[in-house]
Amino acid sequence: MVNYKELGLVNSREMFKKAIDGKYAIAAFNFNNMEQMQAIVQAAVETKSPVILQVSSGARKYANQTLLRYMAQGAVEYAKELGMEKPQIVLHLDHGDTFELCKSCIDMGFSSVMIDGSHHSYEDNIALTKKVVEYAHQFDVTVEGELGVLAGVEDEVSAEHHTYTRPEEVVDFVSRTGVDSLAISIGTSHGANKFTPAQCTRDANGILIPPPLRFDILEEVEKQIPGFPIVLHGSSSVPQDLVAIINKYGGAMKDSIGIPEEQLRKAATSAVCKINIDSDGRIAMTAAIREFFANEPSKFDPRQYLGPARESLKKLYMHKIVSVLGSADKA
Ligand SMILES: [Zn+2]
Repeated sequence: MVNYKELGLVNSREMFKKAIDGKYAIAAFNFNNMEQMQAIVQAAVETKSPVILQVSSGARKYANQTLLRYMAQGAVEYAKELGMEKPQIVLHLDHGDTFELCKSCIDMGFSSVMIDGSHHSYEDNIALTKKVVEYAHQFDVTVEGELGVLAGVEDEVSAEHHTYTRPEEVVDFVSRTGVDSLAISIGTSHGANKFTPAQCTRDANGILIPPPLRFDILEEVEKQIPGFPIVLHGSSSVPQDLVAIINKYGGAMKDSIGIPEEQLRKAATSAVCKINIDSDGRIAMTAAIREFFANEPSKFDPRQYLGPARESLKKLYMHKIVSVLGSADKA
């Protein structure tokens, strides 16, 4: 059993309070490997931003939970080495689905966990979330709950349709569970195909324009629980220039579409203080690697293609921090 404080990590409490007061949001970036972790830390240090390192169930299976925890510990030391005196780094479990999983992450040094009971009945979601909160708070670990279901596919989390968060439930859910933050469903979704073409319109160039997020639901939630930290999952924007590079060099990403960055920027100025971005990072790495392979068919050293992929990822993350979430210079 190790407490995250011994590893130099922080929980999300102070971070979220400052983000709401300062009208910005913190990026939660997922990582499965060293290059992603390096890109996240480099971007956070260069922009002087707090950041959330996020571990999904897919990442735990791919990379091993213990290894990921040590990498997060390494991330803190790496940030210091890069010149950040007091790194503000959260290690967060994304979409925890059982009490046992959340407990195991808390026991091995995670500073924050999500318990996603959104696929259960309302009462079962409350019971499960409350149980995790009671355990986590003994160790000052913060807990994110979820009300409403996002459409899309992300690792093992998938749903065909949105179930928007019902604002009339949030006061009851938050007070009975004791959660520290709440993920809500207002039209964001997991994956790189967030909407079907039928749900969108097309502009003059044939680019899909998605339906807008349900800011009316967000506003109603904020009215019910003023100043309470809200989280948005599935908030990649699926940059069309990167998708075009992928498709130019042999890829086949069809009708990919994300959440326009202006809408996320608007959300970041509200009580939304954590925004999850995963697919965009995958797309940035893949575009860089496909381009490299197409142009340098004789090269075979993984560092030669993972290096540019890491660079492209870092550039994307810095852009998100500075121009979309607004968390630069807040660490
Ligand atoms: Zn999610």
